[in-house]
Amino acid sequence: MSTIITVDSLVKNYGSFEAVKGISFQVKEGEIFGLLGPNGAGKSTTLEIIETLRTKTSGKVWVDGLDLDQSPEEIKKIIGVQLQSSGYYPGLNLVQLIDLFCGLYNREQDPMELLDLVNLRDKAKSKVKEFSGGQRQRFSVATTLINNPRIIFLDEPTTGLDPQARRSLWELIRGIRDRGTTVIITTHYMDEAEYLCDRVAIIDSGQIIALDSPDRLIDQLVASGFERPKEMKQANLEDVFIHLTGHSLRED
Ligand code: ADP
Repeated sequence: MSTIITVDSLVKNYGSFEAVKGISFQVKEGEIFGLLGPNGAGKSTTLEIIETLRTKTSGKVWVDGLDLDQSPEEIKKIIGVQLQSSGYYPGLNLVQLIDLFCGLYNREQDPMELLDLVNLRDKAKSKVKEFSGGQRQRFSVATTLINNPRIIFLDEPTTGLDPQARRSLWELIRGIRDRGTTVIITTHYMDEAEYLCDRVAIIDSGQIIALDSPDRLIDQLVASGFERPKEMKQANLEDVFIHLTGHSLRED
């Protein structure tokens, strides 16, 4: 797999505070890459710098061979960024919003095709303010796809969702990757990262402290002699909940 993003010695200071302390990593084309870490670790700052939405203090970033310092406008054309749903015009329905975004991106896009992809066709004439958290997030993911991007960035897309809505969003994200789009996601849910991500970078206090596939990170921990204090259960309470209430896409 070829490299689609390279981050080299990236630093971001806010005044005298070092939020990102010289991190380096590469994202491969077609993978789901996770940035994990506690609140305040520097995940959003890193993401927003790559997205061209925030300035960096030092370091280099290349996206699909484009130098962030020289070609931010070219980078914008090939990435999809999730907007916060609070940024949507409350009076417009989904089709109108997609048309509006298409105008901003100067792209033609069939709104219904996009809504089909995220399972919101029957909500085409509804407004976002009437939506549940899961529906909002699915729509928000749909908006990242409007300019047919090579890479999409998802910042904590499942925070606050119930288990069904989370799983439905996971399937959506996998489906997007299966269509060839590279996905970069931040999350502080480890189960989410383990399920979705091909590789993860664990960030703490502005530094990468581990970077590998979830499986290899787990294997390394086990090889170091780690043992769980309690034997693993064969299922957990979330499995019970989903088993009882059903996997299917419901009113989430
Ligand atoms: P994360 O996404 O991992 O929660 P952030 O990148 O949002 O972390 O923030 C990293 C650190 O930088 C935090 O300590 C945060 O308070 C600080 N920070 C973020 N944005 C600003 C800003 N605009 N001004 C000053 N400090 C900021």
